[in-house]
Amino acid sequence: MSPDPAQTDAFRTPIVAVLGHVDHGKTSLLDKIRGSAVIEGESGAITQHIGATAVPLDVVSKIAGDLVDPEEFDLPGLLFIDTPGHHAFTTLRARGGALADIAILVVDVTDGFQPQTHEAVSILQDSETPFVVAANKVDTIPGWNPSPDAPIRASYEAQSDRVRGDLDERLYEIIGDLSDAGFSADFYWRVKNFRQNVGVIPVSAETGEGIPDLLAVLMGLSQRYMGEEMEVDISGPGAGTVLEVTEERGFGSTLDVILYDGTIEEGDEIVVGGTQGPIVTTVRALLQPRDLAEIRTEKRFEQVESVSAAMGLKIAAPDLKEALSGAPVRVVGDRETEAVVEAVQEELAEVAVSTEEEGIVVKADTLGSLEAIANSLREAEIPILRAEVGDIAPRDVSVASTADEDTHQAILGFNVDVHDDAAELAAESDVRLFMDDVIYQLIEDYEAYVENIHRRQREAVF
Ligand code: GDP
Repeated sequence: MSPDPAQTDAFRTPIVAVLGHVDHGKTSLLDKIRGSAVIEGESGAITQHIGATAVPLDVVSKIAGDLVDPEEFDLPGLLFIDTPGHHAFTTLRARGGALADIAILVVDVTDGFQPQTHEAVSILQDSETPFVVAANKVDTIPGWNPSPDAPIRASYEAQSDRVRGDLDERLYEIIGDLSDAGFSADFYWRVKNFRQNVGVIPVSAETGEGIPDLLAVLMGLSQRYMGEEMEVDISGPGAGTVLEVTEERGFGSTLDVILYDGTIEEGDEIVVGGTQGPIVTTVRALLQPRDLAEIRTEKRFEQVESVSAAMGLKIAAPDLKEALSGAPVRVVGDRETEAVVEAVQEELAEVAVSTEEEGIVVKADTLGSLEAIANSLREAEIPILRAEVGDIAPRDVSVASTADEDTHQAILGFNVDVHDDAAELAAESDVRLFMDDVIYQLIEDYEAYVENIHRRQREAVF
């Protein structure tokens, strides 16, 4: 695949993430957007990247109709990260913040804000990521009369007073929850500046209603945001984030990477964050998935010589086994290798959590999730003795057992495994293990445990 000529403009493709509570329709919405793009543009409408899907501007404007005039935009289109949810969002961090430039917060309109919605909002707030709300499943409002081809405002106004009143009530509830979180929000058609006010867009991933409007708002928001606040030089040395480290036949360990800045070429010297510190290596091959039509050929990937941001790709290079998902990838270019190694080291350290003398042990699967959980623990005023990436090993149990307070003899494991010998040691040494893949659940479980210990201590006194 040759690089999209539009990619050589000053603006790179904005990266879009989808967040929200489980079952509120994140995956369905992404599927519907992809599906609409395929229908509107026929072949070549979307480009499947590693870990992401690119929808070019002309296809966005076909789906959005009158809402998006391609002449008004400098952006090449939108790049959607394929994995929804805030785990992916926090894992995929870029220099100083989130990898995603903008986000869609999906809220089931009949279910309203739920724990993971609150969590997503606070993550978006911390990372200062602009977002819009997709108030999904409007088709499930009793009496809803779908009109998939009309802009959602027209469809909204065509509903009976009762249905519209019902929807209003639910939308105001969402607006109220956003306001409690410190955002000024409104029905999207009343919003003038989407950077200052969060737009709430009624949508249905089932009927496709509201998707043209959603895409139009995403385009407007990123044009404004990227035009005013981001400087992107896609001809500079590439910078990206590791999604995953995978074994690929014929290539050994490879990295799935989202390149968010600059250009990477075959033969480039790169520095990658690893479990034991920065890895310096040389790009052996850059791989992209073949077009779906070509997938019947025996090779799944096509080798390319050069890739420019924003793009999902696979990098083959020696010594990648210890690479860490969520870690930075940097092309050295004409800089000193040592300077880039230091920069990567600094980025890794930025995430490493400053720890206290007394507290609990935290283990997480990626740097981004470790950072997110450490932030949540700080908000809950729970002290951390040590925080690291990796599975729970006997050493972690030994560290946790040195805590003075009973309540601190605990390990919180986010999306990690426990080694058998560590589990045995924990049982022997009264160190409690808490495991979950939902941050608030993990913290709630730990807090309930602490509360229990305190109650028992109070009872023992009286
Ligand atoms: P996720 O967990 O947020 O990714 O949610 P899913 O996309 O898996 O959706 C959860 C369920 O809601 C599935 O059964 C979907 O078919 C259903 N669903 C999603 N969006 C809509 C919608 O707009 N309308 C209706 N009626 N059902 C939806």
